[in-house]
Amino acid sequence: MTDREGTTMSAADGGPDGGAEGTAAAGPGKDVRVEDSAAFPGEPDALDRLWTPHRMVYIQGEGKPDDPADAEQCPFCAGPGRSDEDALIVHRGTSAFVILNLFPYNSGHLLVCPYRHVADYTELTEQEVLEVAELTRTAMRVVRAVSKPAGFNLGMNQGEVAGAGIAAHLHQHVVPRWQGDANFLPIVARTKALPILLADTRRMFAEAWPDGEAADG
Ligand SMILES: [Zn+2]
Repeated sequence: MTDREGTTMSAADGGPDGGAEGTAAAGPGKDVRVEDSAAFPGEPDALDRLWTPHRMVYIQGEGKPDDPADAEQCPFCAGPGRSDEDALIVHRGTSAFVILNLFPYNSGHLLVCPYRHVADYTELTEQEVLEVAELTRTAMRVVRAVSKPAGFNLGMNQGEVAGAGIAAHLHQHVVPRWQGDANFLPIVARTKALPILLADTRRMFAEAWPDGEAADG
C-alpha cells in the first residue's frame, strides 16, 4: 500500500464530516426506504460518497461504536446475525466471513473478518489465519471474474493509529483497483464516485462465489 489510494486507505479516520443529511434524495416521487447505516458493518472514514445511481440507500455518516471494546456494539459481530442481504455478506465460512465494506474505497471493496471479536492478527487461531487467507484469495478470484479490476490492495490496519476504523475487530481489506480510479474527486471534494450500489455488488459476488470452497474447512 504505497500508492496514493493506499495511503488514503490507511489514513487515520477523521470520521465522516458530520455525515450527510437529506437521506431521501432519491428519484422523483418514489418511496424510498431509508436504512440506518449504523446497523451495517463497515469502516467509516473521512470521505463522502457520491452514489452515481441516484437512488441512495443510505448516507447517515458513521456506524462506529462508541465503545470499541464492546463487542455488542461491533458491526462485524452483529453482521453475521442478520441475513446476507441485510448485512451485505458475500460468503460465510467456518471461522471467518466475507462482507462488503459499507464505506468502500472502490466498488467491490470487501472485508474478510473472523467471526470472533479479536483485534490483533497474532490473536487468530491457526484455523482463522488459514481461512482468512483462503477467503482473501477466493475474494480476489471472485472480484476478478465479476469486475475485472487491474489490481488489488490487500491489507489489515492494526490499531486506530494505523487507520483501523473498527480496530477492535480484525478485518482484512480486499480493494479492487482500476486504472484511473484515483481521480480528482477524493482530493478536490473528499468524495468518491461509486458506480454500483452495494446490494447489487453483493448479489453479483455471492452468485460468483464458488460453492463450498473454503466453506467446508
Ligand atoms: Zn466484533
